[in-house]
Amino acid sequence: MPVEEVFVALGGNIGDSQTIVTQAMDALGNISQTSLRASSSLYRSEAVGDIPQDDYTNAVALLGSSLEPTALLLELQAIEHAYYRRREQEERWAPRTLDLDIILFGDRSFNDSHLIIPHPEFAQRLFVLEPMFEIGGDRFVPGYGSLRYLIDNAPAISLEKLS
Ligand code: ADP
Ligand code: MG
Repeated sequence: MPVEEVFVALGGNIGDSQTIVTQAMDALGNISQTSLRASSSLYRSEAVGDIPQDDYTNAVALLGSSLEPTALLLELQAIEHAYYRRREQEERWAPRTLDLDIILFGDRSFNDSHLIIPHPEFAQRLFVLEPMFEIGGDRFVPGYGSLRYLIDNAPAISLEKLS
């Protein structure tokens, strides 16, 4: 397997999500046959949708990986599960502590019932596009256009780069 450049989006809005996203970033570098080539700043984004919820912490990692896409997804899900629940008062468990999505896998496209690459929503998500641009610079995404173009055309959201 050749080494491919893989962009992974990290997000969470439950618990100490800045710490969780930072730790998850480290965990990505420990995946077998995979190295962490670049990690974006943390970003704060306002949750979109009808349900009121806390702001999200977002980031993007650039990996070099020789895993197959489905094998990498399994590794990401194992990391998600390590953070999936946190102890609340009275042993309540809260969901969605960490979300890890494969955004791009080289120039490959992939589509089965468990995995769609490029990620079907990424072009609509400034909280993915901005950190990708930060670490990867402008690049052309086959079928989509340049990152610069996608950023200029994505729906506006409240997004703040954290220092
Ligand atoms: P979401 O990311 O949409 O908020 P989940 O993280 O619960 O929700 O993912 C739901 C399913 O999306 C996963 O079980 C996974 O099989 C599937 N999926 C499809 N494409 C991708 C991708 N590119 N990256 C990560 N998960 C994906
Ligand atoms: Mg996900």
